[in-house]
Amino acid sequence: MTMAETTVFEALESNVRGYCRSWPTVFDTARGAWLTDENGKDYLDFFAGAGSLNYGHNNPVLKQALIDYLVGDGITHGLDMSTVAKRRLLETIRDVLLIPRGLDYKVQFPGPTGANAVEAALKLARKVTGRTTILNFTNAFHGMTLGALSVTGNAAKRAGAGVPLVHATPMPYDGYLEGMDELSWMRRVLDDSSSGVDKPAAVIVETVQGEGGVNVARAEWLRALAEMCSARGILLIVDDVQMGCGRTGPFFSFETAGITPDIVTLSKSIGGYGLPMALVLMKPDLDQWSPGEHNGTFRGNNAAFITAELALRHYWSDDRMELATLAKGERIRRHLTLLTEDFHGLTTRGRGLVQGLVFDDASQAAKVCRTAFELGLLVETSGSTDEVVKLLPPLTVTDAEISHGLSILTRSVEIVRGGH
Ligand code: PMP
Repeated sequence: MTMAETTVFEALESNVRGYCRSWPTVFDTARGAWLTDENGKDYLDFFAGAGSLNYGHNNPVLKQALIDYLVGDGITHGLDMSTVAKRRLLETIRDVLLIPRGLDYKVQFPGPTGANAVEAALKLARKVTGRTTILNFTNAFHGMTLGALSVTGNAAKRAGAGVPLVHATPMPYDGYLEGMDELSWMRRVLDDSSSGVDKPAAVIVETVQGEGGVNVARAEWLRALAEMCSARGILLIVDDVQMGCGRTGPFFSFETAGITPDIVTLSKSIGGYGLPMALVLMKPDLDQWSPGEHNGTFRGNNAAFITAELALRHYWSDDRMELATLAKGERIRRHLTLLTEDFHGLTTRGRGLVQGLVFDDASQAAKVCRTAFELGLLVETSGSTDEVVKLLPPLTVTDAEISHGLSILTRSVEIVRGGH
């Protein structure tokens, strides 16, 4: 095998680079669920740009629309000016996402990253309520800017801030206290004026913690959380940056629980093609921004609006995508369950097409990912000690690709656990 030529990355690119260390090759092209490196070796992608490629790499339907738009000199950079592309996208969000679900939200275009959407959501909650504290959850991940980091759990990521991260109070996520009612603590401190917890502006929650280790909140827990917030005038923010856009089955991950958050953040796959884009959805009475109060040069990535609009119309006008995702997820879950029966010290958890294989011995998770890479499968770890191998294939993955990926994963576990 030819060694990849990586000198310039090592010499010139900052030490901050990360994924290239897990997957030490130089990628060149990609299509669907596959990446190909410059030596022509194919890798099945069960990471999907950390959830940004739900419709696969270079999805042909979206690609053609994008090419046509560029060839026609459509606006590429549009600040937050009104454009034809944005009008079509807003109409499609209304007709495909909101009306059929009985949702009434105003739509904000923040800067194009998940962290920027989270920053906007936190700012807005504070502005509307006049309060400063945000309640977040253990093991949460919301992004790397200061506000988003302040509601993120991971100690190493928080340490990078270089300043105290303040005005957030972590609460136990569903399952954190193993067998206890995590919300009873939250209810108690909110209702006790001597608890030392200030009345918060908002609670921010992921319905499934993607970076935090594929921790799945139960529907009844989410419902109880939503009720607790609404009874106390606390805004509920669902960060759907990773679990939205159909990752767990329905377009919004909170639909299964039957709750309606006050504010929703979306990014990653909302642009459809892997192009940067983010949205903040807010109940209309919360839209108390003054013009330009949350700003940003790259809020008008019109090329992404084209692929976002088409992705919504093409994949979400009926329930086929949701049903297929649930069926594929169930297949993966069954396979992982069999693995946990064959190997002690393994458990599994997940929803839809985010499934995790959890190792009692965390070091084995990284070894499994490394072995899988060598065998041609991209998977990454997540969790507080990187103890979870997280499977995040594109939603468009085929049954044959699922079989192929799962057989590489099984082989990798066998190799790492030895004796096979
Ligand atoms: N929120 C969640 C739930 C995420 O998973 C992520 C990214 N992993 C972010 C926010 C931050 O998104 P970005 O990296 O685009 O800033």
